[in-house]
Amino acid sequence: MPTYDYLCKKCNESFSLVLSIKEHDEKKVECPKCGSQEIEQQITHFMTKTSRKS
Ligand SMILES: [Zn+2]
Repeated sequence: MPTYDYLCKKCNESFSLVLSIKEHDEKKVECPKCGSQEIEQQITHFMTKTSRKS
């Protein structure tokens, strides 16, 4: 499952969550520190692993 990185806009806490695509679509993600839903999804690094062309 992919890992999603988030940054809370309220308290600047950065955190990552492992979610299925379905969960990511449906779930309201909250900051684990302050509980805010004002969060921003960060660009994740999972593309760097597969950047090499075959
Ligand atoms: Zn927060």
